[in-house]
Amino acid sequence: MPAESSTTEPASTPLARLHPLARLRPLARLRRRWAWALLALPIVLVVFTDARIRGDRLASLPFKYLVSYSFSIAESAVLWGLLLFAASAQRGAFRWIAATFFCLSAALAVGVQIYFHRQYSTYLNLDATLFGTSFSSSLLGQLKADGKNFLISVVPPLLLAMAMVWLGRTLLRPQRSNASKAARFLTPLAVIAAFLIPCSYRTVQASTPDVIYFHAIGGLMKVLTGVRTGAQVRPGLRSPPKLPVLDRAPTPRRNVLFILTESVRADASCSDHRESCPNAPRTNAAVPGRAPLLQMRSNASTTAIELAVLWSGLQPVASREALHSAPLLFDYARAAGVDDAYWTSHHMLFANSRLFVQDLPTSKQCGATDLDPLADIDLGASDDLLVKRVEAEIGTLKEPFFGVAHFGNTHVPYLVDPADAPFQPALESKAPDDTEAYHNYYRNAVHRQDKSIGELIRMVRQSPFGDRTVLVFTSDHGEAFREHGQLGHTGSILDEEIHVPFWIDAPPGTLTHDEEASLAALRDTPVFHTDVTPTILDLLGLLDAPTIAPYRKTMVGSSLLRPRPAPPVLALSNCSGIWGCAFRNWGVMQGSLKIEGREWDNQWHCYDVLADPEEKHDLGLAACGELPLLADKQYGGLPSVIR
Ligand SMILES: [Zn+2]
Repeated sequence: MPAESSTTEPASTPLARLHPLARLRPLARLRRRWAWALLALPIVLVVFTDARIRGDRLASLPFKYLVSYSFSIAESAVLWGLLLFAASAQRGAFRWIAATFFCLSAALAVGVQIYFHRQYSTYLNLDATLFGTSFSSSLLGQLKADGKNFLISVVPPLLLAMAMVWLGRTLLRPQRSNASKAARFLTPLAVIAAFLIPCSYRTVQASTPDVIYFHAIGGLMKVLTGVRTGAQVRPGLRSPPKLPVLDRAPTPRRNVLFILTESVRADASCSDHRESCPNAPRTNAAVPGRAPLLQMRSNASTTAIELAVLWSGLQPVASREALHSAPLLFDYARAAGVDDAYWTSHHMLFANSRLFVQDLPTSKQCGATDLDPLADIDLGASDDLLVKRVEAEIGTLKEPFFGVAHFGNTHVPYLVDPADAPFQPALESKAPDDTEAYHNYYRNAVHRQDKSIGELIRMVRQSPFGDRTVLVFTSDHGEAFREHGQLGHTGSILDEEIHVPFWIDAPPGTLTHDEEASLAALRDTPVFHTDVTPTILDLLGLLDAPTIAPYRKTMVGSSLLRPRPAPPVLALSNCSGIWGCAFRNWGVMQGSLKIEGREWDNQWHCYDVLADPEEKHDLGLAACGELPLLADKQYGGLPSVIR
């Protein structure tokens, strides 16, 4: 406490009580006046910080967003002003509660946002905390991986807040007055209001960062306390083992670029080269000599599950722990000294994806908000921007390299180019009567994306490393247009959702004759995404490395570049340890035989997908041999009976 002898003296007037020396009275008056201005300092600093971080974006906000931003300034000013006023009181326990909350909130609501924006080019918002499922575990994970940068973001606001409390107690010193009483009553209300008041937090984020933060925490508390439900099984942080240095077997000189797209079903693309391919003309023309696999299927129709399957070789039914601890293609590549990259236009806040990929050992990596800070959470950034990023960086990778270019604009709500939309009539309407027009709308999105993918292929093939780079292409899953009643994906393992395009384009000399022959022989054979990890490991010369044998054993698939073993029994499921399904659906497949069930089915359906590609004729259980039994064993029964 500062020396203040006057408080012990009997005084005739309040001012005289403040200081006995009359000549200091004007100074004291001045101090009091400015002390009130101190209460406005927090909001000034918040807006200043926000302007430093994204000033040009704020300056270009349309009018309606400026209104929403102004409202958040008012909310923030009231909250911080009241807290600081209460924290500046001269006595009482409440001032310590207020001071602690003021300082910690400054560190978190401002510091965490500074840190978060540096990582994602967007502020932490309600979507991120909800998709985070377990916010504390993601925070701890971040701290473990990046503690220093976290402290650099959080400590300055904390120290500034502490300095402001000290200044408030030195200069402001609110007396026991009606104002102080009102502050005791209003401060908790302002805090609760900050948790509850709606704000602009999604794409544009026309709110101050602290307001977005309080809103997110408020929403999270609603979920945790059961007021609102929504927390589900979502991807988490990975904990892969440290692999020993891997020796690569001799292979022809080759890099691998894995082009992965989103929600593109087999019949929306052209796996095989055709005279005319209206959906994807540029890709069709760019790789005329590609080797197509016309019966490729994903093992689920959920993005997060398929990323794990495609990169780990595990099945969707592997445990959550296994899916999070298995080495991924990036881990294998890095252990073998193969340079690697993961470029995606997908939004890393979508369904928590960031946690799963943030620790990938890549030398180049990007997500939607790195490409465009305003990227839509479902669509991601524009695929054109993704291609530009890959073009800028792929040449800097050391050969041999392994890269993944992951496209996203064919996810609902589908990005189309109205000026180049050949499939008509096309409607965004999801009404049952408009299904065909909606399907056209989707085809137009595939058509738009084809320009980007075609451009990427053209660029790779024209680059110095082009004639030694093997391209692998597929989609994470398909998309339903009410073939069996449902729209979109994750709803079933029926073929509209899991039959996907696949081809490998290998320049002359990048595959051995045996590899070429094996691949060509599989053109019409049912193969699966679980075969992709072994195939890419094979391309990198790693499939037979003795040290990865234990991991190889956990993979049910096999390299598409080698003679095909007997078809394995595969578990297909959208209910996985990495993703909890909204509607239960699963099944089993072996060769072309599939059994399948959704949660309203009271018996398994059996289909032969080669003889009946539209899955219209249920062959009955007997036709699927022991598959129903195996499914019962795997899942404990039909989706309808498992609760
Ligand atoms: Zn997907």
